[in-house]
Amino acid sequence: MMAYGICKICGCTDDHACIKEHGPCWWVDEDHTLCSGCVAALEEKESLGLSERDCETYEY
Ligand SMILES: [Zn+2]
Ligand SMILES: [Zn+2]
Repeated sequence: MMAYGICKICGCTDDHACIKEHGPCWWVDEDHTLCSGCVAALEEKESLGLSERDCETYEY
């Protein structure tokens, strides 16, 4: 069972939003389990994964 209103990454809530450079975070999903402060970190991980997959074969 997912906890509604608690970020699954950082654990912030409506009452205790994490503050980023642009201000307090907001929910990025309908279930309120992922906040805007953490979606960037997730996307970073995914882009890292992509770049690994995209890496070209080396020529020696
Ligand atoms: Zn979060
Ligand atoms: Zn947050």
